[in-house]
Amino acid sequence: MAEITATKPANLSNYDIAQYAERIARHHDVYDANGYADLQSLLSSLGGSITYADSAESLVVNGPGDFVVRLPHFTSNARDRFTIAHELGHYFLHYRLPKVEGPRRYGRGQRNRAETEANVFASTLLMPAKEFKKVWSRSDGDEWKVARHFEVSPLAATVRAEVLGLA
Ligand SMILES: [Zn+2]
Repeated sequence: MAEITATKPANLSNYDIAQYAERIARHHDVYDANGYADLQSLLSSLGGSITYADSAESLVVNGPGDFVVRLPHFTSNARDRFTIAHELGHYFLHYRLPKVEGPRRYGRGQRNRAETEANVFASTLLMPAKEFKKVWSRSDGDEWKVARHFEVSPLAATVRAEVLGLA
């Protein structure tokens, strides 16, 4: 098993990370007409898979196009979706972009810029800006309705609305 080392941040602005995440998502055609992201199909087209383990969330990259997202048992679908999107953020921002080679493991529990970057990536991937704005206004800013639409937590929906200047 590869060692967990402190993840180097990509040092991109949140805006650039958001652009990058949406570009990847649209390139892989992950959204339906209402902006709901199909993470399973994205994972399989990238060579990623999911495994359930009795440990905290993490990402194990064996090499480009070959990685495993480890999810804990008994977590909600919304939480799992955010975790998968977050780990995809590490995969793109902290493995593919800096052209890391060989196996690498990304763990949880650190509060640093790299973790924030992965969260910005995840939030954008799960709630694309254009569709999010539409759904938010159609739902009169009801974060529970919006959360159900994108299958995220109400808190994640609220944070996204704040970032987009809607709340
Ligand atoms: Zn992380």
